[in-house]
Amino acid sequence: MHSCSSLLVLFLIAASNLSSWARPVNSSKVELCDYILCKLPDCRCAGTDIPGDDLNATSIPQIITISFDDAFRALDYENYYKPVFGGRKNPNGCQIGLTYFVANQYTDYALMEHSYSVDHAEFADHSVTHRTPSTWWKDATEGDLSDEINDQKSIMERWGGIPEDEVKGFRVPFLATSENEICALHKSNFTYEASMSTFELYWPFTLDYKSPICNSPATCPEYSYPGLWLVPIQFLKQPGGFICGMLDSCTIPVTKDDWVDFLWDNFNSHYQSNRAPFGLYSHAAWFYWSPVRAEAMKEFLDKVLALDDVYIVTHSQMLDWVRNPTATSEIEEFEPWKCPDRPAPSCDYKNPTCNTFLNNFPFRSCSSCPSTLPTIDNPEGQ
Ligand SMILES: [Zn+2]
Repeated sequence: MHSCSSLLVLFLIAASNLSSWARPVNSSKVELCDYILCKLPDCRCAGTDIPGDDLNATSIPQIITISFDDAFRALDYENYYKPVFGGRKNPNGCQIGLTYFVANQYTDYALMEHSYSVDHAEFADHSVTHRTPSTWWKDATEGDLSDEINDQKSIMERWGGIPEDEVKGFRVPFLATSENEICALHKSNFTYEASMSTFELYWPFTLDYKSPICNSPATCPEYSYPGLWLVPIQFLKQPGGFICGMLDSCTIPVTKDDWVDFLWDNFNSHYQSNRAPFGLYSHAAWFYWSPVRAEAMKEFLDKVLALDDVYIVTHSQMLDWVRNPTATSEIEEFEPWKCPDRPAPSCDYKNPTCNTFLNNFPFRSCSSCPSTLPTIDNPEGQ
């Protein structure tokens, strides 16, 4: 398979005589953003400015996104996700929406189908193997990354009952982004990439033009990827000036009240400012360390959901808003945030059609069992 950049060079040569292209394509070296050409809904320059021409911070909803990475397991669902997040409603009366970035091993695909259907969760892609060493991801070829990305998408659709093309986003293991990864996502028509950390309160933007998020481990693409959104991970601020990216790496809060204050203060740094989406990124393991964490999260959710302009939505719903900015006064009529009508799961996740061990891994699905563990280069498990 050609590497991304060698393909791009071929395109560049082929395109060199065409001068009339209105927007850069991925054959182009990335340039500074052109605010005249780059317009919503499909293009947005990177910045802290509020999307929408006539909206200001107090007239728009504050979006919160909450996501968990790695295996999607029943133990975490029953002990934490369901009791902490289940049954909570946004101000429009619909359930809050979480996003799970899922890797293959130990994931319960019957539970995935259940949660997609009943909790209205979004399931995004976090690779098939999540292999180590972490440096593999940074150095991998576009072909290898494309297999990791597209085979996990196929596995989630085939075994987790996620409708085709509903797997829209990707977070790379260890946040080890690369040009090849971004190129693979763009070629596979993914909607967004969600692995790059920043100190600034950037709103999501597209990678048509130059990205300002270049601090390690983020990669600044050298080429243009029109229409591919970058959902930044904003660093969280701990007491004493220490920062952390994912919640698991925030270690300074100890008591329940410390954690509530930490979450509330970081939320307010968005809510009282440009209202860039406030993201909480974690692994289920964050809950394991101390029972005060689940209690603190519940208290934080009680506080934010008591506000009539705060919405906890999935990553895709968040991007729907950024593409079509809508004032809080009109948000009840905003179609992408209305309660989705999803078909019932095709089996009971507690007693699924397939409930077995394959290659020493548990495997559960509402489909009949595959003959071997679905994995990279064999998503059908044949
Ligand atoms: Zn991970």
